[in-house]
Amino acid sequence: MTFRFTPLLALSLLGLAAGATSAFAAADEKLKAAAEQEKAPLIETLRDMVMIESGSSDVEGLKKMADFTEGRLKALGAATERRKTTAGAGADMVIARFKGTGTRKLMLIAHMDTVYQRGILASEPYRIDGNRIYGPGIADDKGGIAVVLHALKMLKDAGWTDYATLTVSFNPDEEVGSPGSGEIIAELADKHDVVLSCEPTVAAPVAKNDGLLLGASGTAIAKMQVKGRASHAGAAPDLGRNALIELAHQLVQTRDVAKSIPGTQLNWTTAQAGTVRNQIPENAEAGGDVRLTIPDGVARLRAAIDEKLKTKLVPDTETTVTITPGRPPFVATDRGRALAEMGQAIYAEIDRKLDIAEMTGGATDAGYANRSGKAVVVESFGLAGFGYHARDEFIDTNSIVPRLYLMSRMLIEQGKKK
Ligand SMILES: [Zn+2]
Repeated sequence: MTFRFTPLLALSLLGLAAGATSAFAAADEKLKAAAEQEKAPLIETLRDMVMIESGSSDVEGLKKMADFTEGRLKALGAATERRKTTAGAGADMVIARFKGTGTRKLMLIAHMDTVYQRGILASEPYRIDGNRIYGPGIADDKGGIAVVLHALKMLKDAGWTDYATLTVSFNPDEEVGSPGSGEIIAELADKHDVVLSCEPTVAAPVAKNDGLLLGASGTAIAKMQVKGRASHAGAAPDLGRNALIELAHQLVQTRDVAKSIPGTQLNWTTAQAGTVRNQIPENAEAGGDVRLTIPDGVARLRAAIDEKLKTKLVPDTETTVTITPGRPPFVATDRGRALAEMGQAIYAEIDRKLDIAEMTGGATDAGYANRSGKAVVVESFGLAGFGYHARDEFIDTNSIVPRLYLMSRMLIEQGKKK
């Protein structure tokens, strides 16, 4: 059975689940008209940005993207700043600040880099086919930047100033884990009430509806090191303490520890030991891949591993395990969920359905923004698209008006004094 999803029905369904979330009925017709008017200019902005190749290591391309976006933010009335990233290829972040007349502090984040190498436009050109526009990085994440720029244009035209601060952050290293911008994003986010992150939402036909996202896994790197004692492997093997044997023992002992900690995953993937055949190896080392969907996963894994390490096979050896956190997992708070439900109510105003996704395996800077839990953070305010990190990346132009409406209405609602 199919039915038309009316705002009335959406609201009655929402009313059951939304709790304290305010529900809206009629669309803001002025804002909706403004979103429709902004569609063509947004597509022009997208084309301009797709024509700038900006892979994560392409410092020259990323400078062009920073120049372009900074210019646009300035034109919208922001005070802008170029912030050097603290590690990585050395490209700049663009940070823009708008001053309003209200009380709430709002922040929008998106990224300027893509996964593609220089020259990609030759094989993957910008092209329009029906309601799809193809191009490298067009969804991930140039669509997100375009939504930010054009929603802010709509709100500027509408004379909206009901916020204390509105900060925009565009970083140049998201696709390589944000090594030089993650801490800056986390620090900035903590000074705000709300952070809307603008990665893409999955387009039809892969996803039935546009969505917002409440969770993404984090990463970490595990390292196991064993210190033994060297000796002549032929003449005096018993004087040695074989680090390789102890490493093998500890790897087997710890291979399943993550299985008892839901939300964590550990897989040992690399190992090395010894230098020459005729010496009992003094040192051995293994590396592991860690995935996390719970905030305290690193600490809990470390505790479980340390417990296992107490049982040795080779006496007098010493084994240590370190787990170095990478991008933190994104696990939205209840306040984040309430914000996403407000997004559903906003979508219902324009007769559209919005899905709330709980978790993705991909990582996102929402993890950094949400790390301390101070700001309310929700992901996927970008355009609907598909094929990112692959071939034939595209955005669905039918998502432009709803996403502009969602972003601008959400900012208006979040700007209101709480
Ligand atoms: Zn992205």
